[in-house]
Amino acid sequence: MSRKLFVTTALPYANAPFHIGHIMEYIQADIWVRYQRMQKDEGRQREVYFVGADDVHGAPIMIAAEKAGKSPAEFVAGIAAGRAAHLDGFLIKFDNWHSTDGPENHELSKSIYKRLREKGLIYTKTIEQFFDPVKSMFLPDRYIKGECPKCGAKDQYGDSCEVCSSVYTPTELNRPYSVLTGATPVMKQSEHYFFKLSDPQCTDFLKAWTLGQGSGRSRLQQEVANKAREWLGGDGDKALSDWDISRDAPYFGIEIPDAPGKFFYVWLDAPIGYLASLKNLFNKKGMDFDAFMADPETEQYHFIGKDIIYFHTLFWPAMLHFADRKVPDNVFVHGFVTVDGEKMSKSRGTGISPLRYLEIGMNPEWLRYYLAAKLTDRVEDIDFTGEDFIARVNADLIGKYVNIASRAAGFITKRFGGQLKLGTDATEVPVLKSLRAASEEISNCFERREYGRALRQIMHLADEVNVYVDANKPWVLAKDPTQSDNLQQVCSRLLEAFRILTVYLKPVLPAIAEKVEQFLNIAPLQWDSVGTALPDGHTINTYQHLMQRVDQKMLDALFEKPKAEEPAKAATVKGKPASQSTASTESTSNIEPLPVPESFEPLAEEITIDDFAKVDMRVGKIVDCNYVEGAKKLLRLSVDLGEGRIRNIFSGIRSAYRPEDLVGKLTVVVANLAPRKMKFGVSEGMVMAASADGDDGIYLLEPMSGAKPGMRLS
Ligand SMILES: [Zn+2]
Repeated sequence: MSRKLFVTTALPYANAPFHIGHIMEYIQADIWVRYQRMQKDEGRQREVYFVGADDVHGAPIMIAAEKAGKSPAEFVAGIAAGRAAHLDGFLIKFDNWHSTDGPENHELSKSIYKRLREKGLIYTKTIEQFFDPVKSMFLPDRYIKGECPKCGAKDQYGDSCEVCSSVYTPTELNRPYSVLTGATPVMKQSEHYFFKLSDPQCTDFLKAWTLGQGSGRSRLQQEVANKAREWLGGDGDKALSDWDISRDAPYFGIEIPDAPGKFFYVWLDAPIGYLASLKNLFNKKGMDFDAFMADPETEQYHFIGKDIIYFHTLFWPAMLHFADRKVPDNVFVHGFVTVDGEKMSKSRGTGISPLRYLEIGMNPEWLRYYLAAKLTDRVEDIDFTGEDFIARVNADLIGKYVNIASRAAGFITKRFGGQLKLGTDATEVPVLKSLRAASEEISNCFERREYGRALRQIMHLADEVNVYVDANKPWVLAKDPTQSDNLQQVCSRLLEAFRILTVYLKPVLPAIAEKVEQFLNIAPLQWDSVGTALPDGHTINTYQHLMQRVDQKMLDALFEKPKAEEPAKAATVKGKPASQSTASTESTSNIEPLPVPESFEPLAEEITIDDFAKVDMRVGKIVDCNYVEGAKKLLRLSVDLGEGRIRNIFSGIRSAYRPEDLVGKLTVVVANLAPRKMKFGVSEGMVMAASADGDDGIYLLEPMSGAKPGMRLS
């Protein structure tokens, strides 16, 4: 059976350009989609439709448009025009990008609503709400401010106090005022439309859906299922609240059928925008949308952030189910992006600007790789730090992967006219065998969205290939004319290994993969290409440079404060005139040292170079690593210092690293430390790690890429 997938990302609200959180979600989904597109089911290419849209309705956009002197439609068109630069820039390939104000969404929203009404799940109720008499409109909670009823703090929002953290309703505020006009709001009655989520049939359905009892595919992530169970009241009978789905005019939205002056609340029509974008795509392709969505084999998945779980696990499946439509097979929830451990904040303008990243010439595949290396199937925040970014990209992508091709391709082109010759026993070469054998496991990792795990395994394989390089030393073979055949074979096998690694990395690095396909002179790589080796006599094209290393200067530029903030910042830099300190951002003389942390340990007594020379520190490769039974703090490391034996070293780093994360890494070892007998065995050296009082972290040292086991530190 051939799988058919309908995949979406959350619809971004069209009142601002994308931020890094959007880009992370799109990259996560794009990798999954690209992986799926490389698969075949029974010889047929898997069918995948990946769509997005701008979420354009609601009061905030209406008000922002008015401030900008535009109609809401003009306003969102301006925002929408900026989308392509981001999506193309980060190689995010949606099949369609639409708007929730398109005709498909108006039609689908009305039809879903009507069906719910026929089922008796819609009713009306008169409620009292704050109304701005100057603006003649009902005020959403966030447009009312006043004095906190608990602590008296001024200018607090209608739902909670930022000073004392109390939570209340807008009617409890003292001296309330409208944020829009400053007028004192009045209470006014209005008839609202409600979706009866408290109905027992809704609760029963949602319990079955969220707990995955209905379908084999819906397996919510554990954290998400727990949340849903909490909202649904566990096994008790706490009912869900009914959902207010209407707003009064003036409102930018979709008018409710048979209810003039009433509009759907934006959160009703926004998720229907998923269907509308797909329908728009199918209309353009001349395909049958209704048949596709009615097919029980069609799988429907939504990538979303952890802040909108409620809408996507309760409202959305219930709306669809009771409107007799397909319900999602799953929602894939991710956390937020933090920068240096701090949550980004729009108001403070910190974080990474995606457009700036592209404008200063940073490679989008660096970010794709970096984010992928940190992504798991859990609802976790992802932290971006500059040092880590440089290390991962330069050490993994360049040092381990790209280098394989650059080391082998030159010999093949210059010495052998670009012709490959793997030899008849190529399939028995251990390194190629283990590369092929990993296909299914890596594939499963991508399917489960365990990208970090997939990339660790791919880099582990790349390490094996590099061991093969070092064992066969093509640059030595090249000096000996009698070894010509051997040189051709070794380099051909390296390029075959590189080809397989490229298959595995293609969902993450689509542009690199395309360059590799060109250079190897082969058809676009599919997942099953792993099994078909490059044939003897195949001719490759000249190797072109695949990727540049990350430079620290680029990261400095990325985190430079936006231009508008510069005068203020410059004025505070140690009293220097603004012109001087802004003009010299490139030179090092103006770089300020970091503040001294409280935990800074005073320097040890001064030593001479001779004292230092007594300590013999070497680069070592961690070839194996295990937990030590009965030792809570220790890991047992097997380290190769290039001296013809493997050392056994115990290190108190268990709290900081898992053994599987260390295997294959290089580190620094004090090699001439007297062996030390411990309860668990003899430790033959010490690995170097950094730590500080007041910081629980332990950080193992890792040399920059290019260092080899046995090299001495000086
Ligand atoms: Zn308060």
